[in-house]
Amino acid sequence: MSWAVAIAVGVGGAFAAWFVLPWLLRRRAVRHLHRLCAARRAIVLTYDDGPGPRLSPALADLLARHGVRATFFMIGARAAGQPQIVQALQAAGQEIGSHTQTHLNAWKTAPLAPVRDIRAGRETLARLGAPSALFRPPFGKATLATRLHGWQNRLTFAFWTVDCRDSWESPRPVAEVLARIEAQGGGVVLMHDCDAPPRSPNPAGHPDHVLRLTEAIIAFAAEKQFSLLPFGALLAAPVREA
Ligand SMILES: [Zn+2]
Repeated sequence: MSWAVAIAVGVGGAFAAWFVLPWLLRRRAVRHLHRLCAARRAIVLTYDDGPGPRLSPALADLLARHGVRATFFMIGARAAGQPQIVQALQAAGQEIGSHTQTHLNAWKTAPLAPVRDIRAGRETLARLGAPSALFRPPFGKATLATRLHGWQNRLTFAFWTVDCRDSWESPRPVAEVLARIEAQGGGVVLMHDCDAPPRSPNPAGHPDHVLRLTEAIIAFAAEKQFSLLPFGALLAAPVREA
């Protein structure tokens, strides 16, 4: 084997281990979530990138009115600035997971920076009295390093199956989100409880959109007899008999 071929094989192997293996693990985890949601006829409401000073407390009120528990994947730096929201959500029985300290994209930063970001995010939540082994990678991106860190620290990588695209330039209409949930027989629904996502065409309208969407999903779940569970409970809940 020439040196050039040996180097090419080495680089290819390293690329596969660093990016492709975590990507395959993500696909497997998402398939598992599809199966769990369908078997349990369950919907999981999840909110990333918060807490948002306006939206998160409003969501807490809405969820409490309906007796629904959801999962909030928080950015440590935002949580640290609003400890009262973290504590109010936790006191209300809402589930809290980590979404790193500063929302680094693991595929676009120096190799070990995302590991430090995960650790710092979890430390912040623990300091605020909300330690969690649930972890949602920003943008769903993981590398071999973040996966190894996850295994070492017994983290559950928590992905989603229905993206509402509420922080995108073109959010999915509410009816389309409900149709996707129905077609999947349930789902882990991704929304954002930061107040004004930068890519949104109408940042000021984001909180109202997420509140409307949440209310519509709760009504839909009641009408179609889906259970609304926090993420951790989805993994632990018994399968419902048909
Ligand atoms: Zn995020």
